[in-house]
Amino acid sequence: MSELRVIVVGASGRMGRMLVRAVTEARGTVLAGATERAGSPFLGRDAGEMAGVETLGVALVDDIHSCADADVVIDFTAPAATLHHAAFVAERGMGMVIGTTGFDAEKSQQLTDILVNAPVVMAANYSVGVNLALSLIERAAAVLGEDYDAEIFEAHHKHKVDAPSGTALAMGRSLAAGRGVNLDDVAVYSREGITGARKAGTIGFSVVRGGNIVGEHQAMFIADEERIEINHNASDRMVFARGAVRAARWLSDQSGGWYDMQDVLNLRD
Ligand code: NAD
Repeated sequence: MSELRVIVVGASGRMGRMLVRAVTEARGTVLAGATERAGSPFLGRDAGEMAGVETLGVALVDDIHSCADADVVIDFTAPAATLHHAAFVAERGMGMVIGTTGFDAEKSQQLTDILVNAPVVMAANYSVGVNLALSLIERAAAVLGEDYDAEIFEAHHKHKVDAPSGTALAMGRSLAAGRGVNLDDVAVYSREGITGARKAGTIGFSVVRGGNIVGEHQAMFIADEERIEINHNASDRMVFARGAVRAARWLSDQSGGWYDMQDVLNLRD
């Protein structure tokens, strides 16, 4: 495979720095550009130095159009920024790996429309372990059925702005798919006051925010006599960054279309 040239947007963010590190660590992958939002105090700084690796000669810029030519953009920023970067990707005929979460229905539709012809990987969670867990949850839900009450729990650091996490929602969708139902019809996102008894067939969500928790997820299948739990705990964000770079490399062999990590890891039945 020839050299893969990558632009990391939001390169001074928590994930951005990890992504720059993962790009430099991956064989045959080079950093072609790095951006930050207008007004960021980090503009002009070397992306490699910011990421704690060697000087790469790639300075952070606030206009993605001024980056060198590249094959793929990796974007872990915020929904509005991702839409802006998607327009650039579509204009240049590049690929895009999207990690940003928290899109509402309208922005989600805009993103799909902008990237209608591009090769795109979008995943709520780029960890290989989480994606295996999604597959296991779907299988468990299909086998256990609605006799087992299903609950999803997640915990993240105090800076996270959206809830439940994209990964928790993906777990909910896998669980619902295993039961042959639509998550929107059965999800219960909050409980307060006199809620009444648990309604059969619902999928409940609960959320914790605090400290520097990288990401904890749990799917529970609860019957009167037994409980099955599928857990995933991430201890370092590098796990997402390495997965995203793996997705970028995989994407370079694909034609236009939307993919997720189940495709990248060949986990589809
Ligand atoms: P962060 O706030 O630390 O980083 C986001 C960065 O994007 C910031 O540095 C911000 O200045 C920058 N940014 C904003 N607008 C920009 C623009 N127009 N151009 C360039 N840069 C811009 O956040 P984070 O913890 O790194 O998370 C970023 C996103 O990634 C969130 O949506 C988070 O939920 C998601 N995330 C996804 C995964 C996954 O595996 N899919 C894993 C971790 C985080």
